[in-house]
Amino acid sequence: MSELAVDRRAGTAPAPIASARELLPFALLAGLVLMLLVYFVGAEEGALSLIAGNGVHELVHDARHLLGFPCH
Ligand SMILES: [Zn+2]
Repeated sequence: MSELAVDRRAGTAPAPIASARELLPFALLAGLVLMLLVYFVGAEEGALSLIAGNGVHELVHDARHLLGFPCH
């Protein structure tokens, strides 16, 4: 038997990598980054545009269609 195999007979669960409290800041940061990404994919154009020009729109154009945001 391999040394990497888990011995289930011992009845011990593997220790968690981190607790939920330790993961919370990273989960919040990931959520914020994802919300910003969805903003730039879905709403970064016209009156809501933060960055002038069509560069961001063209960069994420395929993602807009993939996610079903109205485009053209
Ligand atoms: Zn389009």
